[in-house]
Amino acid sequence: MPETSEHAQLPVLIIGSVLEQDPSLSSATRDWAIACHWAVPILAALVGEPKWSRGHARADIDPLSAGRPMPPVKVLNGRSGAVENEIPGSGGHLRRFLRSRLRALIAGTSDDEEEGKLDIGFGKRLERLVYGEDGATVTAHFSDGTKDTGRLVVGADGAQSTVRGLLVAAAALRRLPFGATFVNASFKREKALWLRSFHPVLSTVLHPDNMVGMLGVLNAADPECPESWRFTFYISWRLTPEELEEDEKKCADSKNGGGTDDDNGKGEEQAGSGRRERRAARLRAAKERSKMFADPLRSCFEWLADDHEEVYYSRVTNWDPSLPEHGWDNHGGRVTLVGDAAHPMTYQRGQGLNHALADAGKLVELLAQQHDGASSQADLIHAYETEMRARAGEEVRQSEMNTAMLHDWPRVSQSPLLRQGLERGTGDEKKDTIPVAVAAAAAASPLSPATGAAEP
Ligand SMILES: Cc1cc2nc3c(=O)[nH]c(=O)nc-3n(C[C@H](O)[C@H](O)[C@H](O)COP(=O)(O)OP(=O)(O)OC[C@H]3O[C@@H](n4cnc5c(N)ncnc54)[C@H](O)[C@@H]3O)c2cc1C
Repeated sequence: MPETSEHAQLPVLIIGSVLEQDPSLSSATRDWAIACHWAVPILAALVGEPKWSRGHARADIDPLSAGRPMPPVKVLNGRSGAVENEIPGSGGHLRRFLRSRLRALIAGTSDDEEEGKLDIGFGKRLERLVYGEDGATVTAHFSDGTKDTGRLVVGADGAQSTVRGLLVAAAALRRLPFGATFVNASFKREKALWLRSFHPVLSTVLHPDNMVGMLGVLNAADPECPESWRFTFYISWRLTPEELEEDEKKCADSKNGGGTDDDNGKGEEQAGSGRRERRAARLRAAKERSKMFADPLRSCFEWLADDHEEVYYSRVTNWDPSLPEHGWDNHGGRVTLVGDAAHPMTYQRGQGLNHALADAGKLVELLAQQHDGASSQADLIHAYETEMRARAGEEVRQSEMNTAMLHDWPRVSQSPLLRQGLERGTGDEKKDTIPVAVAAAAAASPLSPATGAAEP
């Protein structure tokens, strides 16, 4: 089928978003908070008025912030607990969204207005793609036996993307030598208030023994009820080659047993007692590690019951779309990847969602040109992929370097997080101005970028 007006009527099939494998938006077992900064204006434009004005404040982790930028993230010394630095947002923006609420905002279900609601197909787990012999259509087949035909499939199906697996032989995630245990929990009123006294939203913790931690608010829906606030925190550490091998074996075993350690809780129901034992062992190890930390992380772990359920072990992984072996045939512009499907990256510099939004913004901008007939869909998708591979590939590498440096105390001050904060890209032109050390004492600390104490 040539690119006629009939072709233009065919839908764009967005896998993992408008066609979603889960039964509903609220069915995911694990939720997380996401820092959004330089991509906030892109998000606002994509959501569009009036939906953005009506609902953006409701996507925050905390209704008290009411859509305003949050204070700069604090950087604490993990051993002493001292505040050593702070990381501002980027471009004047710093929001902390709860993933489920952000999805509700985008889907238009966060309020009662009909206008702007997306018609999401739930229970649509993509299994395979078939390309039409007309050279212009693609059919997505789902596990419930149904299928949909469109002019373009956009794989927005996350880090473990099925679409990427269909397109690229070398689609497997690359495991990096770090482990992390995340916990979500609520605490009694006084404890909850005390935890928020460190920072109302988010603190990053860098430990001289080559560990990284974080304490953040996950969901503080009711400002009057501190005991209902949900916190999220983690400790991550570097693995030796032997530990990495052992860890990969453990993760593979847990997968074979039903439910991996890092599946965001989705294997919980099937996994039964095996999973509970693994979870308890992970928590014991994290509690032991936390004894090397000052507050607030030390107390957070100490207060947890030994059988606390919301414990998530995270394998640290990435995939660089700019590598030659990661190229794919987009079948004349009929299929492409966005977000974590295209460029899963490490999370310590908080860039994944921001680049996912940049992908979506670029794709929407380019596809709008299809209507004037000047460019073919093949040319437009090629243009999108060229820009995305360079931009996001750079960030995958930059974030990996950042993760390695944050777990390597002598180099911590040279890490992208401390040298350029959350700024987009490598920030070469901005290194002299970002970020700010808050205390004079910080000048002498390895956590201060001003010291230049470490080799890059
Ligand atoms: C703990 C944590 C903290 C993070 N913090 C930050 C941060 O501070 N800042 C930041 O920018 N980024 C952060 N990130 C990264 C950010 O969450 C991701 O980059 C972002 O969510 C990617 O969005 P996505 O839509 O590409 O993928 P996802 O959010 O993973 O969504 C993929 C969707 O696809 C669906 N799906 C999967 N397979 C199929 C299939 N076969 N068929 C149909 N549907 C399917 C899934 O159910 C899911 O709904 C963090 C990530 C984690 C885990």
